[in-house]
Amino acid sequence: MIVMKFGGTSIADAAAIKRTISIITKKMRSKPVVVVSACSGITNLLHQLVDFTEQGDKEHSEQIISSIKDRHKDTVDGLASMVDPKRPTPDTTDINQKIDNLCNSLWTLSKAHMGGQIPDADKAYMISMGEYLSSNIVCFMMNAFGLKTAWIDARHFMITSRNYLCATADIPEVTKRANSIIDKAFKNADAVITQGFMGVTIEGDPTIMGRGSSDYSASLLGMVLDADRIEIWTDVDGICTADPNIVPEAKGINKLSYEEAAELARFGAKVLHPLSIEPAAGKNIPLYVLNSMNPDGEGTVVMNSQCIFDGVKSISYNENIRVINIYSPKMINTTGSLTRIFSIFEKHGVSVDMISTSEASVSVTVDAKAPIDPVVAELSKIGNITVDRDKSQVSIIGKNIIGVKGAVAAVFEAVSDSKIYMMSQGSSFLNLSIVVDRPEMMTVIRNLHKTFFENGN
Ligand code: ADP
Ligand code: ASP
Ligand code: MG
Repeated sequence: MIVMKFGGTSIADAAAIKRTISIITKKMRSKPVVVVSACSGITNLLHQLVDFTEQGDKEHSEQIISSIKDRHKDTVDGLASMVDPKRPTPDTTDINQKIDNLCNSLWTLSKAHMGGQIPDADKAYMISMGEYLSSNIVCFMMNAFGLKTAWIDARHFMITSRNYLCATADIPEVTKRANSIIDKAFKNADAVITQGFMGVTIEGDPTIMGRGSSDYSASLLGMVLDADRIEIWTDVDGICTADPNIVPEAKGINKLSYEEAAELARFGAKVLHPLSIEPAAGKNIPLYVLNSMNPDGEGTVVMNSQCIFDGVKSISYNENIRVINIYSPKMINTTGSLTRIFSIFEKHGVSVDMISTSEASVSVTVDAKAPIDPVVAELSKIGNITVDRDKSQVSIIGKNIIGVKGAVAAVFEAVSDSKIYMMSQGSSFLNLSIVVDRPEMMTVIRNLHKTFFENGN
């Protein structure tokens, strides 16, 4: 069995879905379990729908739902016209009816909560509608293209925590349910399709697992099903030496260790969800990152670190972050100061990324969107607080980079013209991160890329 996940751009429209179906066709002998996310842009529209609904903006809410409906129906029409003329013309009545029903249920919920606070479970249901729509269309078309495919509702097996909008999986429950449901589905089908991103609490309330989490869904399924491989199909040639959309010279990386890929994802590389590596790593299942627009390309395989060389593999970034500096001479020669500081972040649900400490001061980075005002107010009782805004974090990632001769010196050389606000060497020896002014970020990334990956390096 293999798990194949297709992201938004791989199913963006009729042409992309057709390409995706031809990729799946070649894997039919491996019992593919296909995980899809929403068609690109749809989850953003659903988030807007939630906002308009809460604001009581009926007109915009209705407009969004109707544009979601039109987009999916256009995709169905486009695909129906692409079916081989030798095959029967697909009857699209049922799939169009399904699209109408799903969009009607969105509208029912939107109307019910118009102008009020939407409970998180209903929000999760609304935001995950993109995956229901896309998976139904892809399944319908796989069958129309001659691939015997069963559609499975992820909410029948993806049991999660009760953190409705950013849930994590209950692995023993998922293992129990996914195996029996998927085995049963393969009795009458050669492929199975389900949705990423969404889950359900043990009580049956809808959840989602955070933006970009279809990768996590796929990796979890791979783990619980003991898949031979997990394939993450996206819009770039695998994991690259930097984000190819901002560094055109970035090259694909053939092999990365699980630890390197996880660190890259944690430090900003959007190509994989940060939680997507651990399930694959736990069972030593190779995870491939492949380009659905260039299916014959090599892509990247993420695997056990024994076969991976030491050294810098990639550069990642978080473009908009803040640095909170806490200065208090009272921290010198006292114990428990760090516990006190971090408990304040925990209390207000603000997650900390980089940390740098000295005896009298602590600096941490947080996402620019994090609600830090109550944190800063409470920290002010401990010491002097300053907040640096409009900063970016840039990280170089690779196995044992700190131990590689000259790597750290090369970083300093590459960024010598930029002001560095903070620096942190991950305790894992896998990353070296710096904080710079946001307008400087691109220059710093390009200089680092030139140093490590261009000029014959
Ligand atoms: P999908 O919709 O398929 O899940 P995403 O947009 O979530 O795709 O992830 C793919 C994107 O990740 C690429 O288009 C690219 O801009 C970005 N990215 C960031 N860092 C990297 C990197 N190191 N290698 C490849 N892509 C990267
Ligand atoms: N559709 C969801 C999102 O846009 C999940 C995913 O793409 O992985 O965040
Ligand atoms: Mg993604």
